Amino acid sequence: MMNGYSRNGVEIWAGIECSYNRVDNNYMDQLNLSGHYERCDDVQRIAALGLKALRYPVLWDYQEVMNEVNYKKLIFTGPVDEYFNFKYGKLPYRSLRFKFETIESSNFQETGTINYPNDYAFTRITEFKHLTGQKHDKTTLVYEFPEATGDPYYPVPRTENDLLYKKYAALANQLTNTYFVGRLATYRYYNMDQVVAQALTTFKKITQADLSAKLPTDDERILEKRS
Ligand SMILES: Cc1cc2nc3c(=O)[nH]c(=O)nc-3n(C[C@H](O)[C@H](O)[C@H](O)COP(=O)(O)OP(=O)(O)OC[C@H]3O[C@@H](n4cnc5c(N)ncnc54)[C@H](O)[C@@H]3O)c2cc1C
Repeated sequence: MMNGYSRNGVEIWAGIECSYNRVDNNYMDQLNLSGHYERCDDVQRIAALGLKALRYPVLWDYQEVMNEVNYKKLIFTGPVDEYFNFKYGKLPYRSLRFKFETIESSNFQETGTINYPNDYAFTRITEFKHLTGQKHDKTTLVYEFPEATGDPYYPVPRTENDLLYKKYAALANQLTNTYFVGRLATYRYYNMDQVVAQALTTFKKITQADLSAKLPTDDERILEKRS
């Protein structure tokens, strides 16, 4: 690979590694750990490799930059109530606490995740080895405990919450060039396949300039019944 191109002419893009590592409820920012934040000339170093395109992480909180950034179209994936500054009140969510445990045994359970809906304070146990295929004398598990407060994970599907969401959805529908996509922005629990489907549908709508249907239609919400 030279000058940003491979031999068969396919362009090579660079990408900054920007993962956030989460251990329990502590977060570690890869860009901080690597010292990238302190090295403004990293971009020149990447350019010196002959790369012409760089995928760069934009880690802004919308509320902090909403008055500074100009855009033609905005795709908002955060909480819809937060977008409207909680005008009608807060949409409730259920959260989780994760408890990690490494045990002196190569194996704990038969499969990656087992749910325990009724009998314990935790609701499921995940043993990561089944996902990665790792072989090791020890094994790491995570127990999930339901919490009323914390990061917003699961919308609470109750009639009053749905009505509250609909008030925010009505505000969202009045906006042009702003699209609300995903589980927080449309206040529904989606699995990944469902949220990808919603994103693709929204993309199609944007590209077809169908501005009258920015939020999921009733037909699209049929997908939600699977969750
Ligand atoms: C514990 C748990 C387990 C799950 N397990 C599975 C599973 O096994 N299989 C499966 O298919 N799905 C699973 N899901 C669901 C899956 O995680 C979601 O479907 C998917 O992440 C939803 O994607 P999203 O883009 O809507 O939301 P998210 O992935 O939450 O993305 C929202 C994005 O918006 C950004 N954002 C939020 N607020 C702001 C703001 N104010 N300003 C700027 N950016 C903002 C966030 O940083 C984030 O990047 C699980 C979910 C949870 C909580």
